[in-house]
Amino acid sequence: MDFKQLVSHCKEYGFIFQSSEVYDGLAAVYDYGPYGVELKNNIKNYWWKSMVSMHQNIVGLDAAIFMHPKTWKASGHVDAFNDPLVDNKDSNKRYRADQLVEGYCDKIEAKIKKDVEKARKKFGDSFDEEQFRTTNGRIVDRQKRIDDVMTQLGEHMRNEDMAGLKNLIVELEIACPESGSREWTDVRQFNLMFSTQLGNIAGEEGKLYLRPETAQGIFVNFLNVQKTTRQKIPFGIAQIGKAFRNEIVARQFIFRMREFEQMEMQFFIPPGTEMEWYKYWKETRMNWHAALGTPASKLRFHDHDNLAHYANAAADIEFEFPFGFKELEGIHSRTDFDLSSHQELSGKKLQYFDPERNENYVPYVVETSIGCDRMFLALVSQALQEETVPDAEGKESTRIVMKIHPALAPVKVAVLPLLKNKEALTKAAKDVFDQLKLKFNCQYDEKDAIGRRYRRQDAIGTPYCVTIDFDTLEDNTVTIRDRDSLKQERVAIDQLTSIISEKIDISQVLAS
Ligand code: ATP
Repeated sequence: MDFKQLVSHCKEYGFIFQSSEVYDGLAAVYDYGPYGVELKNNIKNYWWKSMVSMHQNIVGLDAAIFMHPKTWKASGHVDAFNDPLVDNKDSNKRYRADQLVEGYCDKIEAKIKKDVEKARKKFGDSFDEEQFRTTNGRIVDRQKRIDDVMTQLGEHMRNEDMAGLKNLIVELEIACPESGSREWTDVRQFNLMFSTQLGNIAGEEGKLYLRPETAQGIFVNFLNVQKTTRQKIPFGIAQIGKAFRNEIVARQFIFRMREFEQMEMQFFIPPGTEMEWYKYWKETRMNWHAALGTPASKLRFHDHDNLAHYANAAADIEFEFPFGFKELEGIHSRTDFDLSSHQELSGKKLQYFDPERNENYVPYVVETSIGCDRMFLALVSQALQEETVPDAEGKESTRIVMKIHPALAPVKVAVLPLLKNKEALTKAAKDVFDQLKLKFNCQYDEKDAIGRRYRRQDAIGTPYCVTIDFDTLEDNTVTIRDRDSLKQERVAIDQLTSIISEKIDISQVLAS
């Protein structure tokens, strides 16, 4: 299923709507519909359970979105949370300069991939991709070109050399994807923080920011949490909450939004142990994704060469979205940068007395940070499939099915009387519904033929459909249909809860 179809599916089936659609929408802002909010809550629940409930030494926090403006001075966001912006003079379209250069390299990479696939077909089983990539002259040249350009880009970004970036765009003859024009303005820095104003204080003093990351709420509460929970280092603080970024280019649906949700965990550790913990959290987070059944081929690490001002090591977990491998989650070794900066600017000590080392220090931090919305997109894009299956009469038909992990599915079970307007059937079905709704998110549906009702449930990813027919009235049994195998089994009503519980239980994912 292509990306366009995915976006319309999300709308048509009540997962995601464009914000303020009646006013033609607000760019890069989205609302989650009835099924979307269930799926999103289930993602958050899985993350929270695996972080907080499964770790004695990780505790939760829910900090406010507004923070004292000095927070953002200390964190570096006021001075350094910028993206390089460039406008095309003919189309008046705005771009991120670094993304234009990356796009140039992506195109070369696509050519390499094409050659690799051609060779794979030609050589069959004996094909050795690694060898081909390192010995084929054309590919070696192309790879060298990518590496050279990326090195130059990295240098300009690190040195905040906007003129250098502009020169690179000109040298590479990059054209505006919209107009084909090569007429660019100078590149300039653009701060991504949204600001607002406190009502009772005029001017700069009353300027507030909408947080661009949740992490700072954790840092400034570090001692409050440590003291009140009597945690000893190493320990972590986890938080789920909204973050806001005035993204220059916000395309690709919920991949890059101006208002989004982050799930972040800051792990406080003794200085000098950060590489060990960095490695640990990289592995742990990769396993978290794999436990949901995401194939290894769709996930990869991307280790950063160009580090942010606060980090001494950083990696992304990238997922293969419909538009290529892109960042899904970041794991960052943030050193003591944030706590030290807050300590300096606030004049308050943010130190920990380590009884084992018998010394005071500012802890180091390893962070894991994942966007809930990107996780949502990753899951839906791999789950949504179009397949050919036999219909009720055994004829071939196509269905759109969302094969999402049952533990995350928005609706766990649909209760369907075989026919409508048969009082005995609807009563029996409602009794089953009333029993199951105590345990699971259920749906009752009696409208349309049974086949169409099954398709509706497939489209929203419901793992089980329970059908009540005339036999039910005789022997208290129902058929239960499995979304993926399409198998229908006759089972006793009082077995339903245990059958469904087993498959949708998140504890199996957590234990793996
Ligand atoms: P990118 O390079 O894609 O802009 P980033 O490196 O700035 O992302 P981080 O600051 O590391 O992202 O944020 C942590 C996580 O928050 C990201 O891995 C991503 O999942 C999510 N995230 C960041 N920006 C956005 C956004 N605009 N919309 C949705 N999710 C986002």
